[in-house]
Amino acid sequence: MSSRAAAKAKLSDQTNRPARLLAWYDRHRRRLPWRAEAGERADPYRVWLSEIMLQQTTVRAVGPYFEKFLSRWPDVTALGRASLDDVLRMWAGLGYYSRARNLHACAVAVLSDHGGAFPDTEEGLRALPGIGPYTAAAIAAIAFDRRTMPVDGNIERVVSRLYAIEEALPQAKPLIKEMAATLLGPSRAGDSAQALMDLGATICTPKKPACALCPLNDDCAARARGDQETFPRKAPKKSGTLRRGAAFVVTRGGELLVRSRPEKGLLGGMTEVPGSQWLAGQADAAALAQAPELKCVTRWHRKTGVVTHVFTHFPLELVVYTASVPPRTRAPEGMRWVPVATLDGEAFPNVMRKAIAHGLDL
Ligand code: SF4
Repeated sequence: MSSRAAAKAKLSDQTNRPARLLAWYDRHRRRLPWRAEAGERADPYRVWLSEIMLQQTTVRAVGPYFEKFLSRWPDVTALGRASLDDVLRMWAGLGYYSRARNLHACAVAVLSDHGGAFPDTEEGLRALPGIGPYTAAAIAAIAFDRRTMPVDGNIERVVSRLYAIEEALPQAKPLIKEMAATLLGPSRAGDSAQALMDLGATICTPKKPACALCPLNDDCAARARGDQETFPRKAPKKSGTLRRGAAFVVTRGGELLVRSRPEKGLLGGMTEVPGSQWLAGQADAAALAQAPELKCVTRWHRKTGVVTHVFTHFPLELVVYTASVPPRTRAPEGMRWVPVATLDGEAFPNVMRKAIAHGLDL
């Protein structure tokens, strides 16, 4: 029997699952800063902000950022009026900076095209910058109670186990989405989605799921077979090729030489110390030859060790060189001096924070 046919065959005995799931949620829901109290409608701004922040980041990491954003920009109108630089600065450290740009672009669009109110349909939401199918479904269900089921990693895991879906991700996504929708009751779509998210985060965990506590354990196909941890099936991962480069940490008294990355591309618009290109198999000498032009620097000091960082599609290894230049040395074109004391306020991505810390022995 195919994975699809087998999963559908199990539908016959699942009729009260949505009710069991909601009853469990009412007792065990997680309290999260962006979540409405029981029985209250969630604020679309909070739901949207949290969903964008949570993409590829953990609840624990997002918490402080969410609070910071909310106290600085309490609604979408305030965020839409903020400068992109301020938003990027506040986002620094959360990674995936295109999300911060889209966050800002989306707030501007909600303000200018929708009078400061988020559209209340999946279709309307999907037309906004940075809102893909998952985020649109999550906001529509949670903030507007539209009858739709967003499928995130947690829900994928629960559903693929419940139905023992043999097809591997990512090909299995449409089937998982279809089966996830069977867990929606006639009402409370947002709560059903959040119940599944919570179940995946707290009970149906990747390792050692606590099946004895699961409200769906009676008819979970993977549990019955005893191979829950093997779901969801995944196609083997391709890891990117290691890239190598150099970072140049130049100080002038209490100041550091920095520049801004191009607006488009990886870490677009973020601040960095000058550096070489990041290329697979690049030799150290070739990277060093791309040092910034500073006539007063006759010799670069190479720091022991390397800084490593893993981006989604490639790992990176940076050799760090340092130099100290006399007062009044001019910054090369396109670069500037910033006080070391205020580096925390600069929009450095994590990889640069690591390189600077390595170069300055912080
Ligand atoms: S019974 Fe176990 S494997 Fe099945 S959904 Fe519940 S926690 Fe997950």
